[in-house]
Amino acid sequence: MYQETLVILKPDALERNLVGAIIDRFEKVGLTIVDIHYYRRVNDAILKKHYPDTMAEGLGKKAQLATSGINDPKAHGMKVLERLRKYFTRNPIIAIRFGGEDAIKTVRKVTGYTDPATSEKGTIRGDFGADSIAKSTVEGRACENLIHASGNSEEAKSELALWFPK
Ligand code: ADP
Ligand code: MG
Repeated sequence: MYQETLVILKPDALERNLVGAIIDRFEKVGLTIVDIHYYRRVNDAILKKHYPDTMAEGLGKKAQLATSGINDPKAHGMKVLERLRKYFTRNPIIAIRFGGEDAIKTVRKVTGYTDPATSEKGTIRGDFGADSIAKSTVEGRACENLIHASGNSEEAKSELALWFPK
């Protein structure tokens, strides 16, 4: 089924000159750029909607999978949310609306798992990711993994409306 989904090239993708290489991966699996927007600076209001506080527990649980010593996943997740806002606003990002057959699942598959330390080889995060959740936790940062990709059809719908307002 034809679908559209959101990809965001995070600051590290632009800083490391990986924009072309990353877009190439998506185009090679048949996805097409339907719309694209360069954000010189993202504001806090959009990020609060993109990464709402309700995500905290899930983020904390991902940290528990990757590292030891986290007793309260929700409290830890709230810290990660703050760190994510810092990460996303430090330099420009690029939002892309990709369209194609089963675009949502295809994009996630090409993107790879959240933590580059364990994301599969052959995926963008697995091949280009240079950070890990464990390292970023020790250093008090968000884990840098180059791209955001909508996780399911609900996320795709709300995130596309947020980043590509009519
Ligand atoms: P994904 O981007 O794979 O959908 P999530 O939606 O769970 O992953 O998390 C959003 C982003 O937050 C991740 O891409 C990553 O940059 C960062 N992140 C997630 N979990 C952690 C964590 N435990 N510690 C640091 N950063 C994290
Ligand atoms: Mg997600």
